[in-house]
Amino acid sequence: MKYKSAAQLQELQYFGEFGGVNPSISDSSTYTFLSAKTMFDTFEGNTEGCYLYSRHSSPSNLYLGEALAAMEGTEAANVYASGMGAISAVIMQLCNAGDHIVTSRTIYGGTYAFMKNFLKKYDIATSFVDITNLEKVASQITPKTKMIYCEVVSNPLLEVADIKAMSALAKKHGIPLVVDNTFSPLSIGAAHLGADIVIHSLTKFINGTSDCVAGAVCGTSEFCLSLKDVNEGAGMLFGSTLDSLRAASILKNMRTLHIRIKKHSENAMHLAQCFENDGLKVGYPGLKSHKGHSVFKEQMNTEYGFGGLLTIDVGSLEKANALMEMMQHKNLGYLAVSLGFYKTLFSAPGTSTSSEIPEEEQQEMGLTDGLIRFSVGLDNDIHKTYLDMKACMQELDILEGGVILT
Ligand SMILES: *Cc1c(COP(=O)(O)O)cnc(C)c1O
Repeated sequence: MKYKSAAQLQELQYFGEFGGVNPSISDSSTYTFLSAKTMFDTFEGNTEGCYLYSRHSSPSNLYLGEALAAMEGTEAANVYASGMGAISAVIMQLCNAGDHIVTSRTIYGGTYAFMKNFLKKYDIATSFVDITNLEKVASQITPKTKMIYCEVVSNPLLEVADIKAMSALAKKHGIPLVVDNTFSPLSIGAAHLGADIVIHSLTKFINGTSDCVAGAVCGTSEFCLSLKDVNEGAGMLFGSTLDSLRAASILKNMRTLHIRIKKHSENAMHLAQCFENDGLKVGYPGLKSHKGHSVFKEQMNTEYGFGGLLTIDVGSLEKANALMEMMQHKNLGYLAVSLGFYKTLFSAPGTSTSSEIPEEEQQEMGLTDGLIRFSVGLDNDIHKTYLDMKACMQELDILEGGVILT
């Protein structure tokens, strides 16, 4: 099937109340009704296009949701106050006490902590497996399993999930495949490949300006409505609703997502190739040496590239820290968590975003101390950035004459 969601997103037109080129922002928490009967029906969820209260839905959130649904090619999408707000709502909506989840062992630290520590309180068990090993995934599924969960491209090791194969496995067991596509918007159309529910942290590439946190759930209209149900919807009842002002600003930023993703990918590919030629240990799905290269290639929408994330392993935490500090000092990027900004961001996942994962488990999955994750920025002259980064590595004896001295 030809991927056309980016085009669908471009087709979406909204105008403001006075003919503005951007939709009007809904600046209200509550809405008036002309008749009491309509208010009752809206409460019962029986009226389309009526607004009740902004925790339930608002015009601005609906516009952003429609744009996200168009991008992912799903029937609908809901927006949330953060990626974790979206993830926790989906899991709590689908699982009851006593249920079980099969998930990847390399996932975002917050998701890992939520599944491993928080869900325990509700007697929901989780099996963490190597998601690239389909037999392992299959072997963990029991009659109590309520979903297979994974990241399309995983944090921080950039493992690539075979969505088609996982979707077939989930279907065989009659359970949904829930994926987090935060690392690869546009590059991989997860719903087209068979994912039932696609989650995004909008905080990252989709918003792209590192000025807010937000999240989204893309799926069937039925599932999205169930999350908003006034009596039983996890989204509605946990209250992790996105503010309308933010929804409006994220929608505007989404208008340039296709350009940004192409540039992030182009720059990351350049750095990855140069670093690899220098003899560094590089993890980037665009490189033939990467374990997930062929799976990514098979699933990707070629024009958007292999994404903006890469990792290098400089051998030790001390070297990683020294390199990051020096690169920041030379204005090559910022030592900060998160991703998808115009500026390159780097962090050592073992001590930051994945620190929730116990050390021995980190080792087992290949999350080494010297690993640095780069979210490559929108630099206009990436080769100059590369040369400046290389100079830092040489100064710190990480790189010399093409040999890694770690
Ligand atoms: C950041 C991130 C999240 C969490 O999103 P927030 O907006 O910070 O709540 C979830 N998954 C992935 C892959 C992320 O990078």
